[in-house]
Amino acid sequence: MADAFVSRQIVTPSGIRPGAVLVDHGRITSICDAPLIPPGYRILDCEGALLPGLVDSHIHINEPGRAEWEGFATATRAGAAGGYTTLVDMPLNCLPATTTVAALEAKRAAAQGQCLVDWAAWGGVSDHNAADIEPLARARVRGFKCFLAEPGIDGFSRVDETELRAALPHLARTGLPLLVHAELPEPLSLAARELAGADWRRYETWLHSRPDEAEVAAIRLMIRLCREFGFRLHIVHLATAEALDDLRRAREEGLPITAETCPHYLHFAAEEIPYGSTLHKCAPPIRSAENREVLWEALREGVIDLIATDHSPCPPELKCRDTGDFSAAWGGIAGLSVAFPVVWTGMRERELTLCDLARLLSQQPAQLAGLTGKKGRIAPGYDADFVVFDPNEEFVVTEDRLYTRHAISPWLGERLFGTVQATYLRGGPVFEDGRFTHQARGAEIGDHPEVIPIR
Ligand SMILES: [Zn+2]
Repeated sequence: MADAFVSRQIVTPSGIRPGAVLVDHGRITSICDAPLIPPGYRILDCEGALLPGLVDSHIHINEPGRAEWEGFATATRAGAAGGYTTLVDMPLNCLPATTTVAALEAKRAAAQGQCLVDWAAWGGVSDHNAADIEPLARARVRGFKCFLAEPGIDGFSRVDETELRAALPHLARTGLPLLVHAELPEPLSLAARELAGADWRRYETWLHSRPDEAEVAAIRLMIRLCREFGFRLHIVHLATAEALDDLRRAREEGLPITAETCPHYLHFAAEEIPYGSTLHKCAPPIRSAENREVLWEALREGVIDLIATDHSPCPPELKCRDTGDFSAAWGGIAGLSVAFPVVWTGMRERELTLCDLARLLSQQPAQLAGLTGKKGRIAPGYDADFVVFDPNEEFVVTEDRLYTRHAISPWLGERLFGTVQATYLRGGPVFEDGRFTHQARGAEIGDHPEVIPIR
């Protein structure tokens, strides 16, 4: 079946244009002016802007093992409703953690027949598993994730410099990126000692327990190791603007380093988080409004390469909303289905464009996960993954818009711009006018990642 997706605003890598995107067997074949659509094509008139389906390179699906936290069925539903057509799953919070090929196979079995959108897996570097790195790469993970600070969950442990030094030669041989949770434990324990007797229902206490220095020191360590071992380094969920100079210099030196930030760091500000609002707890923490504006500037400049959700849900009771205790609550923010309008709302205010949006939420995350040529752009040869988006419609986030297993999120009640009218995966609809298709069209992206330089 050949289809022509017609829109007045097709967001391509070379700009926004009117016309038609021609699709054959789930792939884009060409883009043309609407009057030049060849005969025999079924015309699909898109009322909104046509963007490439979004790619989330940082999500915790939590299955197998913790499907009561989220799972493939609900995560891919929320993804489809939020304009995401590819989710790349983090190796932790599921059980077993994805640190061996057997665990990866267990994940594949769990995902079978449940997915509305496509997915892929990151492997984990944890618990002295250096010998598993190359087998995991051959088994087609897209890259690896490690923690320099305690992840705070069973099944995954932090790595120190000694463990990293054992793992990095293997990693460098794979050519795949290492995604790093960059906070060092020493500044964290130092900060904790100074907070004896503090009120843990105040957001400020949580903020002070995760100082900027912990991120900066970790990023400096990783830059040194990147220089020494020559692997591709990616900093996940960058929260502090104080590390930007180091990242900028490392770039100028030509090191293969990229960084992401998340919607919550770009929207909320520490000084506005209510007393006891543990739904806002994540690590590194949401920092000041001033810090937030510098992160936006870094996105504009390109020092931060992409925006990923770090969707990290949990059962409601683990958020300790009854006590409002930031020290006891689960650290993670759920919000996959509204990440797109959250980011767009911030972009509108700061005069960024739909092209920036497509680059930061689709093209660059796809590139990080080695999916260039397949995902992340409206261009010939790419999968026909689309989101039809009304950039001007305003709405308030309500529970029925979350679509996740548990309808709890700090985004509830936020007024945002931009609605997803439809999401298409490889040419077929998965979400349209608020309804899901009943087919599990999604699958693992099964080919070998192309080993290409990230920038
Ligand atoms: Zn995460």
